[in-house]
Amino acid sequence: MTTLAVVKNGNKEKNVKIRELFQKNRFSLSFEIFPPKREGNLEPLYRTVGELLPCRPSFISVTYGAGGSTRHKTVEISEHIKSELRQEVLAHLTCVESTRRDIDTILGELTDRGIENVLALRGDPPKGEETFVRPEGGFGYANELVEFIHGMNRFCIGVAGYPEGHPEAPSLEKDLENLKRKVDAGADFVITQLFFVNDHYYRFRDRALGAGIGVPLIPGIFPVFNFGQIARMTALCGAEIPSRLFEKLDRISEKPEEVEKYGIDYAIRQTDDLLENGIPGIHYYSMNRSDHILRIFRSLSLPERFSGEEKESR
Ligand SMILES: Cc1cc2nc3c(=O)[nH]c(=O)nc-3n(C[C@H](O)[C@H](O)[C@H](O)COP(=O)(O)OP(=O)(O)OC[C@H]3O[C@@H](n4cnc5c(N)ncnc54)[C@H](O)[C@@H]3O)c2cc1C
Repeated sequence: MTTLAVVKNGNKEKNVKIRELFQKNRFSLSFEIFPPKREGNLEPLYRTVGELLPCRPSFISVTYGAGGSTRHKTVEISEHIKSELRQEVLAHLTCVESTRRDIDTILGELTDRGIENVLALRGDPPKGEETFVRPEGGFGYANELVEFIHGMNRFCIGVAGYPEGHPEAPSLEKDLENLKRKVDAGADFVITQLFFVNDHYYRFRDRALGAGIGVPLIPGIFPVFNFGQIARMTALCGAEIPSRLFEKLDRISEKPEEVEKYGIDYAIRQTDDLLENGIPGIHYYSMNRSDHILRIFRSLSLPERFSGEEKESR
């Protein structure tokens, strides 16, 4: 179809479905950004994305606000990155407080803007609620959303995976069964929750392979740059913080520059180890900052298969 992106920019590049990168054995590099909570000027965010582009990312992923609070911004920001910055995007989408019709509308808006890659998520319970309740006329689990999107036959679909288990899952085995449901429903790749101990990822990968999950599992790395944030993030998702990381950050917590430097060095060491152990790509939670991501990027030796033909045609 003729997309708005093509019309607006005269941009003749073909859209890239992320799964095509993996089919061609390309290495994918991606950065996650989130829409600002407050309404207003999106220029600072676009500037940050612009600063990340020299890294030649395979895609930028744009989160979907908790409780769907920033849903229109996800579409708007994804469109801008795609059509103005000419960068492939992955738009996140959750089931929170949405009917099938709502979801259908958003998917239609994405298609109208030439966006073909979606990260299909259930989402967390809305604010003030303990458990996720299936919205009336909507979806209760991400696998149902994947099935719905897959049935449209026009999107490449990513899903979330949890090396240390999703906090609500009764066991790692059950959680893996549920991940398999998402893949069986049509997911093309998985991006993992952040982790600080690579062995969790390696064990997750082995278990996934054993369970017949054959799609790429892209590790998600969160570069720490402030001490309070690491405690908040891990409380939220349950990731193990190795004691040497915690103690070191605790010791230097009053010295922001040192915390940042240590966080960056840690992310570099983590990534180097992952690269040595064969990964299909790497995804960084940027927290809407470019400086630390650029510092990490400069220190990495990404595999040769990173610079693919999609990039050459730019
Ligand atoms: C890479 C990544 C990106 C994210 N982006 C966002 C975002 O943009 N916006 C946002 O709000 N949140 C985001 N999240 C957070 C995510 O929404 C939460 O972790 C949420 O609690 C679970 O979403 P899910 O898609 O993994 O859910 P699901 O896969 O549905 O799993 C949720 C829980 O239910 C269980 N389960 C799954 N399917 C079934 C089933 N059929 N029957 C019984 N149990 C089942 C699972 O084991 C798990 O415990 C992201 C997480 C990751 C890892």
